[in-house]
Amino acid sequence: MRFSRLLLRTLRDAPADAEAVSHQLLVRGGYIRRHASGIYTWLPLGRRLLRQVETLIREEMDRAGAQELLLPVLQSVEPWEATGRLSTMEDILFRLEGRGGDFVLGPTHEEIVTTLVAGEVESYRDLPVNLYQIQLKYRDEARPRFGLLRGREFVMKDAYSFDASPAGMQESYRLMYDAYERIFERCELAVLPVEADAGAIGGEINHEWMVDSPIGEDLIVRCPKGDYSANAEAAIAGARWFDRAPVPEPLVSHHTPDRPGIDLVVEHFRAAGRDLAAAGMLKCIALLDESSTSAEPVVALVPGDREVRVPKGHRPFDDADFARFPFLHKGYIGPMGLQAHGVRVIADPLVKAPVAWVTGANEPDHHVTGAMLGRDFTVDAWQPVATVVAGDPCPRCGTALEIGRAVEAGHTFQLGLTYSLKIPGATFLDEDGNEQPFWMGCYGIGVSRLPAIIAETHHDGAGLVWPKAVAPFEVHLLSLAAGRSPEVTAAADDLYASLVAAGVSVLYDDRPDASPGVKFADADLLGMPMQLVVGAKGLARGVVERKDRATGERDELPLVDAVVSLAP
Ligand SMILES: [Zn+2]
Repeated sequence: MRFSRLLLRTLRDAPADAEAVSHQLLVRGGYIRRHASGIYTWLPLGRRLLRQVETLIREEMDRAGAQELLLPVLQSVEPWEATGRLSTMEDILFRLEGRGGDFVLGPTHEEIVTTLVAGEVESYRDLPVNLYQIQLKYRDEARPRFGLLRGREFVMKDAYSFDASPAGMQESYRLMYDAYERIFERCELAVLPVEADAGAIGGEINHEWMVDSPIGEDLIVRCPKGDYSANAEAAIAGARWFDRAPVPEPLVSHHTPDRPGIDLVVEHFRAAGRDLAAAGMLKCIALLDESSTSAEPVVALVPGDREVRVPKGHRPFDDADFARFPFLHKGYIGPMGLQAHGVRVIADPLVKAPVAWVTGANEPDHHVTGAMLGRDFTVDAWQPVATVVAGDPCPRCGTALEIGRAVEAGHTFQLGLTYSLKIPGATFLDEDGNEQPFWMGCYGIGVSRLPAIIAETHHDGAGLVWPKAVAPFEVHLLSLAAGRSPEVTAAADDLYASLVAAGVSVLYDDRPDASPGVKFADADLLGMPMQLVVGAKGLARGVVERKDRATGERDELPLVDAVVSLAP
């Protein structure tokens, strides 16, 4: 591609709204342009970049035995009603009215692909099948941010596997897991597969494929020994042993008006002369156990410097719940005597710490001091309900855990029967002729996020530094002083034509009027892996200069050998 013909305008300055370095460099390099909040145009250079990423992913999906298809973006609401996600994903669904019904713009395709396979597959002999798509998807994000990293229109690769048994599903999962490792390795991304919470997708075993990044939206917990990593929302800590008992203290109630929060209570007691920190408070959070038939109330106990990880099947009380269980006073719940009211008490093992707790008094505007485990309150079940903080012990080996920010490059889920039980006809006939639901998995990669994630780690002060596997062009060829030297122009033109003929992809900066300084700066900004420079001085000696963009190393190639040494 000749630079002089390319629709490309590089910018000296990043747009004011670009916080992330990837966003700044992709806009400055003329790869993308903003259309509206969270919506971008991919300019010709950007389209090539995106296509490189798509091709790489497609190769690995095909190699793992998945089959590509194209699914509708415009989707009827009926299957979304069947799975209940029309309401649970309401916040982010783009909905529209058309002739003959209501539609959504697909944010994901579990409903559509399951409906499709339900109609096509009849027998266990047709299984397993793994189908994937690479196409635009839509989410009505409340706060689009960081350019391509959180957009409202984005390209996803999603694969969906259908199996006849749990073992089959696990085998399909393993194949995708291995494919993901190869994809991210080829992208030169250091990706950590972490155990994750399934969120709106459903299912049990799943991984998020995370890349360390200071602008990451997720917190991940990891053991420096490498045996444990998890999303902070799902992470648990190992056991802790407390080798002393608390110093006994009487249980005393105090009037603490208008102080429902931990910080306000700590402030109150410190002002009264008590040596108290948030860790000395017992936080009592009312939850509703929706998995029990009677939707029983549960109170979860954690130290005041921790948050509660809401267990599966539970949700925090809303105002209506507080109205139904009036002995639980919002902001003033204590652990004492709850079982007498039919409340189950669950607690994190940290509550075994040798502390005479300050906590709610089960009376509005009152707190107690000196609440002692065993004497004043009891626990029905010990489980890890406290959020993990840095320094907590690893659940596998006990080493102090670390916490860092990361961005999600992909996710893989074993869905089990989550969708096949909800979507009519999502069954096959087993060997005995019995109807069985599909065992499913789903596997996503944020295709249009990937260039941004790569750019976050592959750049320097001068610009982008693309890994070879995703670079829009392998070679950036510069002719210096082209407008003033017909010899340089002729030599560079020849080299360009020969490289292209040999199958090398080349971006050729043939601009007659751009200075060498401008050409070098643009080449560094755009970030192709190799730069070749044809100038009058080198030409006189029969050489071109070569620069490795990543290392900055330079050497010279004899012009006569250049094509042979660079051809694939
Ligand atoms: Zn460990």
